[in-house]
Amino acid sequence: MTADLFREDATLASCPAVIAAIDARGVQLDRTVFYPLGGGQAGDRGALRLADGRSLAIADTRKGAHPGEIVHVPAPGQEALLALLSPGDPVTAEIDVARRRRHMRFHTATHLLCALIPHPVDGCSITADSARLDFHMTEPLDKVALNAGLARLVAEAHPVRHRWIDEAELDANPGLVRSMSVQPPRGLGRVRVLEIEGVDLQPCGGTHVANTAEVGAVVVTKIEKKSAATRRVVIGFADAAS
Ligand SMILES: [Zn+2]
Repeated sequence: MTADLFREDATLASCPAVIAAIDARGVQLDRTVFYPLGGGQAGDRGALRLADGRSLAIADTRKGAHPGEIVHVPAPGQEALLALLSPGDPVTAEIDVARRRRHMRFHTATHLLCALIPHPVDGCSITADSARLDFHMTEPLDKVALNAGLARLVAEAHPVRHRWIDEAELDANPGLVRSMSVQPPRGLGRVRVLEIEGVDLQPCGGTHVANTAEVGAVVVTKIEKKSAATRRVVIGFADAAS
């Protein structure tokens, strides 16, 4: 098990950690700020800084073979440095903060889209350059209206927060479950729920900004009819340099 510090504080850029295991897939730590690919959100990149000051570049982060495992995937060509590492070695785990920040802004924006388009989501991808959501629906979508809706929700500066809800609380509050735009998974004991105050409530394990104002200038760049019953909405940053 890797302690997933990003789950409680998505703003953490680095943390001290200890190498727990190394194998062909990559490096596992006892704790990390690296988000592993999941829920559509891309895995983090960054570096593991060693005690002697050298750095191991991390190209991707993935979930391991067992629940709770997080694997830091080294960039290619670092075999000599990897050969020097052993379980028990201290490191400092540092993510590419600028890239993660874009993931967080886009990820929060996908929740805003869920609020603007009240249809089930059957696909999601969030990268540093664009994000897309696939909605199960047959009606056409209006790009101008969606962009106006996004701009309004960003300008309204709604607080964004997560909390953990156990299954007993879900069972006791059918209204809470009904109000969620995505139904919570069962059988996990407790569910992490992301709330954008007054806008959206749904189970989500990803990383988000703390207020919709931080989403900034995000716009719908494309709406595609992927199939008879699927509409794909692609978003990007209005200012590509942001
Ligand atoms: Zn989310």
